[in-house]
Amino acid sequence: MGLFDRIKRAFTGEDEVVHQLEAKDQESKIVFDTYDKGMEKTRQNFSQRLNALFSGFREVDEDFYEDLEEAFIGADVGFDMTMALTDAIRDEIEERHIFKPEEVKEVVIEKMVQIYEKDGTQLAQLKTNPNGPTVILFVGVNGVGKTTSVGKIAYQLKQEGHKVLMAAADTFRAGAVEQLNVWGQRLDIPVVTGPDQGDPAAVVFDAVKQANEQSYDYLLVDTAGRLQTKLNLMDELAKIKRIIERENPNGVQEVLLVLDATTGQNALIQAKQFNQATEITGLVLTKLDGTAKGGVVLSIRHELDVPVKYIGLGEKATDLQQFNPEQYMYNLVRDVLEVQKNG
Ligand code: GDP
Repeated sequence: MGLFDRIKRAFTGEDEVVHQLEAKDQESKIVFDTYDKGMEKTRQNFSQRLNALFSGFREVDEDFYEDLEEAFIGADVGFDMTMALTDAIRDEIEERHIFKPEEVKEVVIEKMVQIYEKDGTQLAQLKTNPNGPTVILFVGVNGVGKTTSVGKIAYQLKQEGHKVLMAAADTFRAGAVEQLNVWGQRLDIPVVTGPDQGDPAAVVFDAVKQANEQSYDYLLVDTAGRLQTKLNLMDELAKIKRIIERENPNGVQEVLLVLDATTGQNALIQAKQFNQATEITGLVLTKLDGTAKGGVVLSIRHELDVPVKYIGLGEKATDLQQFNPEQYMYNLVRDVLEVQKNG
């Protein structure tokens, strides 16, 4: 069964599907509730735009498609994704000679889900190192939530029973080392540090050595993701990677770029810039709870060949969730289908 059918059936409460998308056990209840709450603003914005479009619906004409495009752009779905979506919707409507508003609405949602589903609905797992510590570098500009994300992911890995080490290699941002230390104390996870303004590569060297010698499962490295010059960033990350490879033959498993979702399309631009400077293996999209522009996840998936691995849906450690495409889509379109069901 495709995702759209699953979502629809979750609505009508049919069989097991509703349990799969909502709460099956304690753990999936936390996941569902976190997405539910964290995506509230985005969901409201999106359903308001689409429902306003449909409440004024007369017929499927050029004005309708224009308004539809505006609704997508307004939800920060992005220009390219909007065009691809509108084309797919137009083709389907023309092919099936659809004219009733409820059916048009269903096509709109169905195409959104399908265009997304093409990229896969699997949870994006972290790559791991079978022969030693799994090393994850975190990059991103100041204020996006990088240090906080390192702490939250460390917490979750520890909860899963892994032995975790953190390295405070963002020695340039005042306070970053101290902030990671606070997380370390709170979570009872050791943090490798160096002097303020010191060489980040030296911190990384010590950290990899410790991770190897003391058989840690994960080493999470908070790096300075300054973008003053691309060359600077490239050099620094290349140096860090070289040091890690020297000590740890399998090198770095993940380079995660942390982006602030509240900056909407700017986050996409940042992602493109970083991707040119270094090879990014995954994205962490923070602060989705604070924005109505959560549609940016769709445009990022559409325009970059980099998977979203985590999304931040609040301030608590459990609010950083592995990106779950089904929960995301379900929570994005839910209220649009709701009105259809009731109305
Ligand atoms: P850094 O400069 O990138 O290391 O950013 P910080 O980790 O210091 O985070 C900046 C602020 O964003 C902090 O106040 C965090 O609590 C906040 N923050 C990070 N992630 C999230 C999130 O997913 N939701 C919300 N609401 N706030 C977040």
